[in-house]
Amino acid sequence: MRDELDRSIAILQGERPAPLAGEGYPHDSADAGSTLSETDRTEAILDSARGQRTEVLAALARIDGNTYGRCVDCGVEIPEGRLDARPDAARCVNCQAKRARRR
Ligand SMILES: [Zn+2]
Repeated sequence: MRDELDRSIAILQGERPAPLAGEGYPHDSADAGSTLSETDRTEAILDSARGQRTEVLAALARIDGNTYGRCVDCGVEIPEGRLDARPDAARCVNCQAKRARRR
């Protein structure tokens, strides 16, 4: 899963036009609008891929620390069904819901 994300991030970074390319970067002003939205979309995907990668790395750290499969907040065992759906889930459904409400 981590390798997959690493690949996706690498591909997205390759596709993304360099934000500060400086001289020599071909800039078509007529096309600026569509280029910008395309860049924004790639950035958004990149952001979520990076966020997911952080979650996966945290899950791998928990596997190393033998705390994987337990809620990081209350320590309860996360049901297998939830781990199947979200292998990188750090919290039980209750704590995740509490956290979401706090935001
Ligand atoms: Zn919990």
